[in-house]
Order: sequence, then structure tokens, then C-alpha cells
Amino acid sequence: MADGHAKLAPSASSRWMQCTQSQRLIEEHNLESKGSKAAMEGTVAHALAEVLTEDNSYTFIGRSAKDALNIDSNILISSEMVRHISAYNNYVREHVRENSMVFTEISAPLFYDTESKGTSDKAIITGRHCDIIDLKYGKYVVVDAEENSQLIIYAISVIDYVEEFLDEEINTIGLHIFQPRADNYPRYDMTRAQLINWRAKVLEAIDEIENRPKYSVGEKQCRFCPAKAICPARAGQNMKIVSEEFKILDEEPKKPLTIDQMASIVAQGDEIRAWLKDMYNHLFEAAHNGTKVPNFHLKWGSQTRKWKDEEEAKKFLLQHFKLDDIINETLITAPGSDRLVKGKKEIKEEVEALITKTEAKLTLVKGEGENACVNLFNDLGDNKL
Ligand code: SF4
Repeated sequence: MADGHAKLAPSASSRWMQCTQSQRLIEEHNLESKGSKAAMEGTVAHALAEVLTEDNSYTFIGRSAKDALNIDSNILISSEMVRHISAYNNYVREHVRENSMVFTEISAPLFYDTESKGTSDKAIITGRHCDIIDLKYGKYVVVDAEENSQLIIYAISVIDYVEEFLDEEINTIGLHIFQPRADNYPRYDMTRAQLINWRAKVLEAIDEIENRPKYSVGEKQCRFCPAKAICPARAGQNMKIVSEEFKILDEEPKKPLTIDQMASIVAQGDEIRAWLKDMYNHLFEAAHNGTKVPNFHLKWGSQTRKWKDEEEAKKFLLQHFKLDDIINETLITAPGSDRLVKGKKEIKEEVEALITKTEAKLTLVKGEGENACVNLFNDLGDNKL
């Protein structure tokens, strides 16, 4: 899971293998990925996996990571986390046989940079087979095991590291992702020959990085690239999209936009919006660090105020005001009433009659498909036939 201080980290290999210029851009501008809450949750989950057993699981629930695991974080260990990590430990156990060798958090020198190490969550060697199991605790980005370069790099590095102590060569490899919060548990099996091809592929990419780096814009590699806000290739591609689309307008300046022209421009919206947001965040940080950003300045937003402790506030206020002055009664919401009415057939209809529904809002979404059925007669308003 951790890649030590490797310059070319296995966890970022899907980026640097695709876009061989990215590493140089990141280093020249000191743009390392920042820690996030999700990353810290991952660290806590991995640390928990190392100490959690069937007997002690209840002792962790509700404690902070600092208290329970000695990690500098106030993240609370929830029952959900304990459940997921127990499931992960069970999954690992299912792959262990009597003659297996199990390595937890094994730090193996990276085969392409032996000064640095990559740490695999679990490596299990059973005869001539090696399983590499990676725990992913994130839930929003679903990770695939197929041709997963991070796991392949771990596999090659671990095999290089342990094989000299083995009697036989490893000839099959299982790559596993265990991603409980996304309900995603893919496995991808490889032969030794495939692994050898991958070794060459990684070394080729590194040769390109060192000798003839080039940009390659793509969703997969750009998504988590620390240089995505300043990247000239991405900017060039997006500016090209915008200018290409607007060129049509220059050629026929007097004609109103057609449906095709507008659809073609709006279809690029997601990437253009994401690009603007990345640049905005970059500018915000620059301003925050004291750089003057032309046309912008930092401004405090309005503050929200709330009671620190509602019970304590209520007790104090009641000494000075009447109950009616300080308590606002609010009626349960219409959707909230569903829970109450459930199973009470005798009043269901009457409750429904008390509810009014807003019109469902139509949205235009990207991609081919049948249009939802629309009542044109009602929706045409003044233009109805
Ligand atoms: S944003 Fe994309 S194209 Fe630009 S350096 Fe990063 S990975 Fe390469």
C-alpha cells in the first residue's frame, strides 16, 4: 500500500507509464499529491488490519486512531470499518494454505529502483503461485485488478525479493483488489511470461521518462496527476476543443447556433469544468501562500453559528426565556412520514392526500438513449399547437 519515498511510486504508475512527461513537470514544480481525509482513512484501515482479530474487534469500535493505533489522526474507528477489515482478513485467510508463506506489509526493493521500496499489503506464496492482495478503502473510485500496473509492480518486486529463498520459480500470479466500501473484489490471474512482458513495459516507460518524455492526455492518467492544473498539454487540448468548436461560429457569424453545434460544445462541458476547477484550486492555493493573483483576491465567506451543546444551551436559555420562545416545533417531512405510515393501511390514503408533489425535473444527460416521455402539450406553454 505504501510506496516509501520512491520517485516513481507504483501507486502512481498508471500515470507515469502513460504520460512520461508528468514526472518531470511534477518535480520541477514541487507538486506532490497532498494527503486527504480519504488517504488517512486508508492508513487507519491498513493499520487496523494488522492488529484486528476475531477476539479483539469490539475493543476498537468508537476509539480514535490515535488512541487505538497510535496514528496521528482523530479519525474514529467505526463498526463499519471493523466489519470491512474483518472481512478483508477473512479474505486473506481464505487464500492461505498449509504450505503458504504469508508476508504482511512486505517492503520489497522496487525492481526498477532498488534504492526504493514498495510495500504490498499481503503477499502469499503457495508452492509456485503468488497472490498479491491489495486493500483499497476508498469507495468512489472503483479499482480494477486487470492489468493493474501498481499490483504488477508489487508482484515483480516481491517475487524478485523472495525467489532466491525458494526452491522453485513462481509461475502463476493472482492479483486481488479488496475494496469493501465499493463492494468490489476483482481478481486477475497472470502467468510468469506475462509478468516478464510487463517488466519490459515498465522499463520501457522509465527509459522514455529519462530520455524522451512526452505528454499523453487521458482521463486515467490526468485524473490524479498533481500537475493537472498547470499542465500545458491538458490546457492545449482543452483550448483546442473550445477553439475548434467556436471556429464553426467564426465561419458563419450571422447564423444562429444549430442544435448540433450547441450539443457539440456542451458535450465538452465536464472536462472543461473540471479543468477550470483544478486551475481555480491552484490559484486559490497560490493566493493563500501569498502570491498576488491578478483579477482575484481572497475574501472570507459568511460564518455559520450553531450551539456547541444543545442541551447545555437549552438549560441556560430556559432560565431567561419561556419554552415557546426557544423551541421551534417542526413537522416531520412528507418523505419522513413514510416510515411512520408504513404498515398502517387504514390511514395511508388519507396521508397521501395531504401531500403535494413538485414536478420531477427533466435533465439533459450525456450519451445516446431514448428521450424520457414528455407531455409536449402541457410543456409547450404559449407555443402549444
Ligand atoms: S495532466 Fe495529464 S497530460 Fe498533463 S502531465 Fe499530468 S498526466 Fe500528463
